[in-house]
Amino acid sequence: MTAKNEIVIALLGQPNSGKSTLFNGLTGLRQHVGNWPGKTVEKKEGSFTHGDKKYIVADLPGTYSLSANSDEEIITRDYIASGKADVVCILADSSQLERSLYMLSDFAGIEVPCFLLLNMSDVAKDQGKDINAKEMSDKLGIPVVLFSAPNVKKYDAFYEALETAVANKTVLNTSSLEQKYKDIPDYSEIRNIIGDYKDGNRTGMWLAIKTLEGDLPVTAKVKAELGNEKTAELSSVLDRCEKGIVKAGECKFAWIDELTAGSVKKEKKAAGLGKFDRLITHRIWGKPVVVLTILLERTDISIPLKTAVWKIRILDLEMKR
Ligand code: GDP
Ligand code: MG
Repeated sequence: MTAKNEIVIALLGQPNSGKSTLFNGLTGLRQHVGNWPGKTVEKKEGSFTHGDKKYIVADLPGTYSLSANSDEEIITRDYIASGKADVVCILADSSQLERSLYMLSDFAGIEVPCFLLLNMSDVAKDQGKDINAKEMSDKLGIPVVLFSAPNVKKYDAFYEALETAVANKTVLNTSSLEQKYKDIPDYSEIRNIIGDYKDGNRTGMWLAIKTLEGDLPVTAKVKAELGNEKTAELSSVLDRCEKGIVKAGECKFAWIDELTAGSVKKEKKAAGLGKFDRLITHRIWGKPVVVLTILLERTDISIPLKTAVWKIRILDLEMKR
């Protein structure tokens, strides 16, 4: 909370999840647009009042995950880590829920009050999907709301979730996700080496999975905190561990599957999906494509892997034609 008792909300979500639509719906003309310090990335902040409280909203740059491969990703992740936000509103696209919830799984382990908006619920409904937000909320321990950002007259459920998240400080339940991470032996070793170390609101679990994924800034930070002996231990685990990012991605998608299983029902055959949408929402191919899309943004992966990723991209472009 700022000195003037304002509550700061950060909007976090993949590109096209509806952040800017919600931002405009909430703040109207009370907006300030500038740049993030030292970057050419647009910074949008605005404000609104609800009940007797004033809220400041930050429309964070859209990114697919909380990695640190581009200016946008670094700005978004540093903002979340800075503790400036009292509450994080995570947006997912209900019409492509599994892919879109990757952001939630990547956020898991950052201890900031949050709630989940399942935006584009109108599109999901047209696809014949019936999403049980209450059930998802019970599993996650945070408010979950079916939402449609352009419909500004129906923001009551948003305000209610916001107030609940702030009042109850609802933090995401990560136990079933960590259970999956623990099945990766390298993860468990890294987690033990990290021990009690936390970095602000980022838990040992979050730091350990990012380290396993080969995230360079997080690994450097963790190493700087540990003594020489533990740093050497960590280096030896990282030297021999392979495909950390793929294994971590598999756990995240398995967790998302469990989360949506039973909570999302399909009533009729999806109509009107484009070829690329069919590929990314495909039961078997969808997940590798998303993981590869995220991998492509990394600068430190090998050339053969990048070539493979590019082939998938080209395939995607060909399918779009
Ligand atoms: P951002 O990239 O996360 O900022 O996403 P935008 O707010 O720019 O939204 C992307 C597109 O989706 C825009 O064309 C919006 O008008 C549209 N959009 C956003 N929310 C919804 C929604 O709930 N339902 C529908 N049908 N369209 C939406
Ligand atoms: Mg936007």
